Amino acid sequence: MIEINGKSVYNSLAMGKLYFLNKEKDPVKRVKISDIRKEVLRVEEARRIAKNELRELYEKALVSVGEANAQVFQIHIMMLEDEDFFGAITSMIGMQNINAEFAVIHTSEVFARTFGNMADEYMRARAADVQDIADRLLNILLGKDKDDDKISQNSIIVASDLTPSETVRLDKDKIAGFVTFRGSQTSHTSILARTMNLPAIINTGVISAEYHGRTAILDGYSGTLYIDPDNDKIEDFKHRKKLEDERAELLRTLHGKTTETKSGRRIKLYANISYPQDLREVLANDAEGIGLFRSEFLYLENQDFPTEDQQFVKYKEVAEALGGKTVIIRTLDIGADKKIGYFNLPQEENPALGYRAIRICLSDIKLFKTQLRAILRASAFGNISVMFPMIVSQSEVRRAKSCLKECMQELKSEGIPFNPKIEVGIMIETPAAAIISDLLAEEVDFFSIGTNDLTQYTLAADRQNSRLEDFVDARHESIIRLIELTVKNAHRKGKWVGICGELATDEQLCKRFVDMGVDELSVAPSQVLKVREKIRNLD
Ligand code: PEP
Ligand code: MG
Repeated sequence: MIEINGKSVYNSLAMGKLYFLNKEKDPVKRVKISDIRKEVLRVEEARRIAKNELRELYEKALVSVGEANAQVFQIHIMMLEDEDFFGAITSMIGMQNINAEFAVIHTSEVFARTFGNMADEYMRARAADVQDIADRLLNILLGKDKDDDKISQNSIIVASDLTPSETVRLDKDKIAGFVTFRGSQTSHTSILARTMNLPAIINTGVISAEYHGRTAILDGYSGTLYIDPDNDKIEDFKHRKKLEDERAELLRTLHGKTTETKSGRRIKLYANISYPQDLREVLANDAEGIGLFRSEFLYLENQDFPTEDQQFVKYKEVAEALGGKTVIIRTLDIGADKKIGYFNLPQEENPALGYRAIRICLSDIKLFKTQLRAILRASAFGNISVMFPMIVSQSEVRRAKSCLKECMQELKSEGIPFNPKIEVGIMIETPAAAIISDLLAEEVDFFSIGTNDLTQYTLAADRQNSRLEDFVDARHESIIRLIELTVKNAHRKGKWVGICGELATDEQLCKRFVDMGVDELSVAPSQVLKVREKIRNLD
C-alpha cells in the first residue's frame, strides 16, 4: 500500500480507480538506451497507431461536426507523415542513445518553437498541432488513454490542477474524487469537489502516472490517498463510508425545513452553480434559490461565442427548474484564470489584476448586451436577478445598468416579454467595492460578497498559487471587517446582502455572519443541508 499526503479541501471518502488526466504529463526523463533499433521501432509503431486513431476521429467528426471541423484531424495525419519530423526524432534516438519518449518531446518542442516564431498566422497556429501530435504519440508510448471519455465509472481524477475548460469537459457522473498536485482552497477543483460532494485533496506534489488505473482510497478527512489499499484499509473505509452515508441520511431529514435560528432569525440559504449538471444537486439538496449562477460555463463549453438564443434556452431552463425561486445570474466573469481561446485575450503579466469580468463586458458592449438580452428574456419565465462581478466603482455599475436599460428598451420595441422590475445586484469582491459600499448601495438592489476574490485582492495573495495557501486566509480579520462594513452600508440603504464565496460555508464564522445581519448565504449545493443544520442550532 502506498500512502500519499496532501491538503484536504473537502471531507468525504471514496474508493475507485486512479485516472490520470493526460494533460498532466509527468516530466518525461531522458534515459540512456542500448537497443537503438528497438526504440526506433517503438516510435514507428506509435506513429502507425496514432494515424489509425486520427483516421477514426476524422470519420467520426465528419458525421458529427462536418468537413470543416473535421479537417484538423487530416492536418494531424499529414503532419504525422512528415519525414522531417520523424527523421529528427529517430536521428536523435540514434545519435544520443536516448529513449523514444524524450526524443518525441524534445523534437516536438523544437518544431513547435519554429512554427510559433513564423510570421504567417496560419503557420504559427500549427505550433499547437505539433504539441497535440506529440501528446498523442507520448500517450501511446506510455500506454495511456487519450480521451477523457474513456474515464470509467468511479474514477479518482489525478491531475496537476484542473482548469475550468478541463472541468467543463469531464464526464462528472463517473468521478469519485479529485487529487491535484497543486491547487488551492478556492481553485476550480476545490469548488467542483464541494459542489459534487466528492473528496478532494490538493498539493500532493507530482504523483507518478505509473499508478494510472490502480485501485485507491481517497480519504478527504485526513488528506491521504492510499494506492493499492490493504485489506485493513478497505475494511476501515467500508465502515467509515457507512457512517458517512448514515449522516447524509440524517441531514436529508432537514429537507423542507426552514433555515432559521432558534430565536427565529431567518436566513436565505441559496446554492452556487457552475455547470448545468449542478442543477440536479441544487434540487436534491433543497436549496432555497440560486445565489450565484456562474454563467462562464456557457462560454467555456462552446467553440465560439454562445448566441443570445443559446444562452436564453439555458437560463430559461434553470429559471423554470427552480419554479419561482430566486436565480441570480452573474454576468460573464472571464479572464484571470478563466481563459477561453476564441476570446483571444491578451497575454498579461498579472491577469488577476487585469482585463477580466465587467472590464471585458464594458469594453465589448455587443458581447455584454447579447448576454443581458438572454437573461432578460429568460426573466419572463421565472424569478431571475442579474449580478455584475468585479466592480470597483459607481461608474461601472451605472454603465452596466445603462446597457441593461438599453436591452430592455430594445426588447420592449420588439414585443419580447421580460421582467422590467428585475433585481440588479453586484458582487463585492474587491476591497474598493467594500470600502465604497455605501455609495454602491444607492445603485443596486442587493450585494453578494465574493470572499474568494475579496481575500486574494485584500491580502495581495493569488488564490491560484498553491505556494500561498497559508496567505490566502479568508478568515483574516481584514476580510471580516470588510464584510461587516458592507453589511452595515447595505442595510443603511435598505438593501439586502449575502455571501457567495467559499467562506459562506465556514462553520466557525456562521454565528458571526448571522449576528452581523447577513441576509443570505449561497453555498455549494452539497453544503446546503449542513449549513441549515448549523443555523437551526444557533440561538
Ligand atoms: C468569489 O470571488 O468569491 C466568487 C464567488 O466568485 P468566483 O469564485 O467565481 O470568482
Ligand atoms: Mg470572484
